[in-house]
Amino acid sequence: MYNVAIIGAGPAGIFAALEVTKLRPDWKVILVEKGQKIENRKCPLREGSPKCINCRRCGLLCGWGGAGAFSDGKLTLTPDVGGHLVDYMSRQNAEELIDYSDKLYLDFGATEEVFGTDMKTFQELEHQAVLAELKLVHSPVRHLGTERSLDVLKAMQDYLNERITILNNVSADSLIVECEQVKGIKLSNGETICAEYTIIAPGREGADWLTQEFAKHKIGMVNNAVDVGVRVELPAPVFEPLTSKLYESKLIYHSPTFGDEVRTFCMNPNGEVVQENYSGIATVNGHSYANYKTPNTNFALLVSEKFTEPFKEPIQYGQHIARLANMLGGGILVQRFGDLLDGRRSTPERIKASVITPTLTCATPGDLSLVIPYRQMTSIKEMLFALDKVAPGTASRYTLLYGIEVKFYSARVKLTNELETEGVKNLFAIGDGAGVTRGLIQASASGVHVARTICSRG
Ligand SMILES: Cc1cc2nc3c(=O)[nH]c(=O)nc-3n(C[C@H](O)[C@H](O)[C@H](O)COP(=O)(O)OP(=O)(O)OC[C@H]3O[C@@H](n4cnc5c(N)ncnc54)[C@H](O)[C@@H]3O)c2cc1C
Repeated sequence: MYNVAIIGAGPAGIFAALEVTKLRPDWKVILVEKGQKIENRKCPLREGSPKCINCRRCGLLCGWGGAGAFSDGKLTLTPDVGGHLVDYMSRQNAEELIDYSDKLYLDFGATEEVFGTDMKTFQELEHQAVLAELKLVHSPVRHLGTERSLDVLKAMQDYLNERITILNNVSADSLIVECEQVKGIKLSNGETICAEYTIIAPGREGADWLTQEFAKHKIGMVNNAVDVGVRVELPAPVFEPLTSKLYESKLIYHSPTFGDEVRTFCMNPNGEVVQENYSGIATVNGHSYANYKTPNTNFALLVSEKFTEPFKEPIQYGQHIARLANMLGGGILVQRFGDLLDGRRSTPERIKASVITPTLTCATPGDLSLVIPYRQMTSIKEMLFALDKVAPGTASRYTLLYGIEVKFYSARVKLTNELETEGVKNLFAIGDGAGVTRGLIQASASGVHVARTICSRG
């Protein structure tokens, strides 16, 4: 019998484990992760395979460190970005949790430098953004870089390995619930784990599983917005005035035609565009390295849609659009902005005749207007023209758009302020999979929050 069982070794699950072991070193804790240990995680695409081979468990997203492991570890140190923690607690409490989690990253070897703390520079840029009808969000960033991020996660794995039971390559298949109280989990290897408390942290990759499991136990879910868009890649000098000062600029725009919110997300100065695989669907993302620089900068442009009754399947909606892009391009599509405006597909020749070389070489030149709905496409175009005012060159005909990028954090679990499910006692849901967070630091902080709650109950 364990005191605590944790599902998923992403930042949310790891930080829950770190905090429980700190507060209750005498407790028995088990962490179940369906992917590999950090040192065994592999992505054939990262190792030179020309195409994503649709691994059964995507090495980029699954395994110790979760989706964050191969990310370039940008810790966005504000409750305004990367999650909804302030919906469950006071802003002050969320800030304290973020600060505490940030310090834990430092204890395990994170870099000291934080970008975006100079308020005078921020206000100057904010002023320029306002003139282009854009809102610049203040978000200091600690940038680890992918290599450092892996080292930090390895240090956490080594630390926890001596204190808790960690199962790799085993997934949680189902929850055991009796008399409206969780009793443990059934694993894919046939084992049953009995535990007083269960924390579910399966990330976006496990969001579908979580939704199905919670439906079985009649745990309420509310529709989140679904974010669909593209990854933009352009020459690094175009965004250099912003990235050199802030590293990542979070810009929000309301498109004139539809009034939808469009935002920049996950900006990677001198980074590269990558392909990821969500349950067999190829989608696009990006990251950057601390010690290896490309001449390009990339970021996502995401359009948020919140559906109203009777539609209840935002995850499927996002998947459907991604599948369409996969169908046309055999994976990821890439198109020059100029070709999109001219109503023609990009071709390998047109891509070659550009001032920018794509970093995701396996993307197929094509036509995104055949894939992305008119509403989102219009908002993306309008945002690119608005960005062009603060970073001239953004709306260049050479700017590359990769599709599609979609964020499947759509279903949000109905939770108490302690992040315990409404209806099943002692069951907690945290991180991106529960729809509570959207980024590393808030996912980590959500883990600390539930660990403190559980430990205070004794
Ligand atoms: C390429 C990329 C770059 C990113 N860059 C940044 C960034 O710079 N800054 C930032 O703040 N955020 C970034 N993110 C987002 C960030 O990684 C996530 O917000 C964060 O990892 C969410 O943490 P989590 O613990 O909730 O889930 P995850 O990190 O997704 O971890 C969930 C884990 O649970 C496991 N799992 C799922 N289902 C089961 C099951 N049934 N049984 C057992 N295990 C299961 C999965 O294998 C996975 O390892 C990036 C994401 C990607 C993909």
